[in-house]
Amino acid sequence: MTQTVIPEPIRPTIPVKGGGVFPVRRVYCIGRNYAAHAIEMGHDPDREAPFFFQKNAENLDPSGTFPYPPMSADVHHEMEMVVALKSGGRDIAQGDALNHVYGYGIGLDMTRRDLQGQMKKAGRPWEIGKAFERSAPVGALSPVAAVGHPDHGRIALSVNGEVRQDADLNQMIWKVPEMIAYLSQYYDIAAGDVIMSGTPAGVGPVVRGDVMVGTIQGLGELKVVVV
Ligand code: MN
Repeated sequence: MTQTVIPEPIRPTIPVKGGGVFPVRRVYCIGRNYAAHAIEMGHDPDREAPFFFQKNAENLDPSGTFPYPPMSADVHHEMEMVVALKSGGRDIAQGDALNHVYGYGIGLDMTRRDLQGQMKKAGRPWEIGKAFERSAPVGALSPVAAVGHPDHGRIALSVNGEVRQDADLNQMIWKVPEMIAYLSQYYDIAAGDVIMSGTPAGVGPVVRGDVMVGTIQGLGELKVVVV
């Protein structure tokens, strides 16, 4: 066996309801997947093909706390459904796509909006605004065996008890099978890949001390404290 020359990095995992952990390989995030959010960000939702960016696997954080990140004064919450894949491939057909899903969860695509905005304006990549430390708080996954494939139902986020985001999963522009099929045209999709399926309207800033509570019908609740 070949010895590693530095200490082995920790493999990121997401807990699973009922026991066990889901090991994470990649994190794909879709942009502007709810029309009302695309409009609030200044875009026309009818004219866009889907687009994705990535976070790092170790950005996922099931701890229930979100440390306010450095180098930003405008960090936003984006409440999203998380899709976790148990298998993959290339050129996956939409009709076969859901067979690759292990389970679903609740996640937050926390965003340094000021830095993302600067990068957008300059035509540069978004990573500095999106893929930072602990930028994706996530709850325990619910296996498909327990919850099926949620394609409708309330998705909502409150901050300090005030509802900020409130929509229905059926308002996604690109549905889960379409996202998997699309991604598989460009990438080798594989077990351990996670898709963050986009945020509804109502994104906004948080400050230290805020308590975010996200809910998705059938998937329970995610509580995250900003520290
Ligand atoms: Mn997002």
